[in-house]
Amino acid sequence: MHPLIETADRLFMTTYSRFPAVITEGAGCRLRDAEGREFLDFLSGIAVTNLGHAHPRVTAAIKAQAERLLHVSNLFYTGPQTRLAELLVAHSFADRVFFANSGAEANEAAIKLARISAGEGRYEIISLAGSFHGRTLATVAATGQSKFHQGFEPLPTGFVHVPFGDLAALEQAIGPQTCGVLVEPLQGEGGVRPLDPNYLAAIRQLCDQHGLALIFDEVQVGMGRTGTLFAYQQLDVEPDIMTLAKALGNGLPIGAALARERLAAAFTPGTHASTFGGNPVACAAGVAVMETLLEPGFLAAVRQRGDYLAAGLRRVAGRHPAVAEAVRGMGLIQGLVLNGHARERGPAIVNRLFDQGVLANFAGNTTLRFLPPLIVTEAEIDEMLAALDRALAG
Ligand SMILES: *Cc1c(COP(=O)(O)O)cnc(C)c1O
Repeated sequence: MHPLIETADRLFMTTYSRFPAVITEGAGCRLRDAEGREFLDFLSGIAVTNLGHAHPRVTAAIKAQAERLLHVSNLFYTGPQTRLAELLVAHSFADRVFFANSGAEANEAAIKLARISAGEGRYEIISLAGSFHGRTLATVAATGQSKFHQGFEPLPTGFVHVPFGDLAALEQAIGPQTCGVLVEPLQGEGGVRPLDPNYLAAIRQLCDQHGLALIFDEVQVGMGRTGTLFAYQQLDVEPDIMTLAKALGNGLPIGAALARERLAAAFTPGTHASTFGGNPVACAAGVAVMETLLEPGFLAAVRQRGDYLAAGLRRVAGRHPAVAEAVRGMGLIQGLVLNGHARERGPAIVNRLFDQGVLANFAGNTTLRFLPPLIVTEAEIDEMLAALDRALAG
């Protein structure tokens, strides 16, 4: 084992269980570690490096911006954040943008906006069982998985969860105190679980009926991951607020809350802020990411490779019916749901993939999750599938 691992394990608070690899560099869909091992990346740093590692356009944008200006705060205007906001507004339902540094911070902004725009006495956010919205106290309270709550109670009040897929329960949870409904169009950490488009449409209807803000957390599924720029664009339902982060900077930390004017107008000078939010370097990376995703044919190719990956996963799953139950996902976020003793089996399969030089992970205690860079080739998908076939055979 690399000596750095021992040092790190002594120094860091033990919040993470890590793969035993010291990653030193990457290019495209490949990573290399300090021992010279190569890995085929079907994780993308958890849906972050959507354009792959060391993407030339992103690297050039970061370099150019770093040579001019790193930071001035939001007491001033800067070019990259304005350009990025322009692109996000031009290609989404939204009229206005607030920049933050992470997914959790983007969701905090969305929650605060839903509250302040709803007015006195309306503060409660309804979210779904199995959801994941972040690790700050408010976003962990919004997260519908008790394993993330344990040990941290009392959590901030004003958050309720309803069972996944149960529209009647959601309707029943709405009261005079409700201000918004927060959902991921496809649950990522919850185990790659898409929401039925009819269910989403019915949630939209309930929000309209009761004057609630519909918030889509697209932190994981936004930025081309599903084969459209944003997942909602293939579900025929528009939100009032949407949050982004992960792949927005292809590896630089950046988050965003986007909203319609009607809601956004409730934020006035002094109501919300972030020192680093909209950092010029992170935003320059974001502009390069957006321009690349918007190139003609890019997203169509993601959909095509997503179909190829899903078909391949179904084929492999069909060869291992005792282990593999189903394949689900959208575009290039695909999950293989495991049978039976999934909780024990999942991590073992992930480790067998790692030993073969393929990176994937296990989500929601049920599902192997595959998140390759959006530039993945069919040959690379085939390579992963062959390793998976061996890993499932045990
Ligand atoms: C990762 C994730 C978050 C949290 O993002 P951080 O940048 O880790 O704070 C929130 N929502 C969803 C759907 C995510 O996948």
